[in-house]
Amino acid sequence: MQTPDRNTLLRELKNYLLLLKEAGYSEIPCETELFTKTVPLESTISSPVKIMATSKKATQLVQVREELGDCTRCKLSQGRKNIVFGSGNPQADLVFVGEGPGADEDEQGLPFVGRAGKKLTEIIEKGMNLDREKDTYICNIVKCRPPGNRDPEKEEIIACNPFLVEQLKAIKPKVVVALGKPAASTLLGRNVPITKERGTWHEYEGFKLMLTLHPAYLLRAYTIENRKAVHDDMKKVLKELGK
Ligand code: SF4
Repeated sequence: MQTPDRNTLLRELKNYLLLLKEAGYSEIPCETELFTKTVPLESTISSPVKIMATSKKATQLVQVREELGDCTRCKLSQGRKNIVFGSGNPQADLVFVGEGPGADEDEQGLPFVGRAGKKLTEIIEKGMNLDREKDTYICNIVKCRPPGNRDPEKEEIIACNPFLVEQLKAIKPKVVVALGKPAASTLLGRNVPITKERGTWHEYEGFKLMLTLHPAYLLRAYTIENRKAVHDDMKKVLKELGK
């Protein structure tokens, strides 16, 4: 077997890392098994991709991102700066789904990085005692920012939804949490009165689905009642996760 030169390897490695970053990774996915068994050196040299993408879920998620490509399937592509695919751990048992990226997310290409994102991190890390990057995966119904932060339109949701479903099928979480009314209504295919139905279990594409308030709503209406509501919802999620 011919060994590729150093520059080719570095280029291949760089392209792969960029692809992982676009797929939402902050760490390089691999299985611990790799560190406990001997891997022939020539196989590691000839294919860094093979070595790093050994996690089946990670590989599938990267494939979904590749399939999405530089998407122009709906008109939201016209105003976006970045596609916001998702971020977190592809092995996570818990996936949060919001409605769509806002300005900060569009700028950075990452979900939930603005004020609402900080609140979500607080809910996950302080409220649930989990690690956002290691224990969860976070994504949205639509991957491009709706102008002026309006709700995504029906045809935009229809165009983008197959990628959300494929993301969930790749990750296979134990629990999916819909954040806010638009996400809950989209996933359940009906108008969901979120303040009435939050805290209740549903099913989406075979996954257990919990509905809760959006962290942006929580920031706007930062009442003891709403904070307790989200706290109670997350307690149910933790119980379902066996934590
Ligand atoms: S919102 Fe989804 S379907 Fe529409 S352009 Fe962005 S990635 Fe494509």
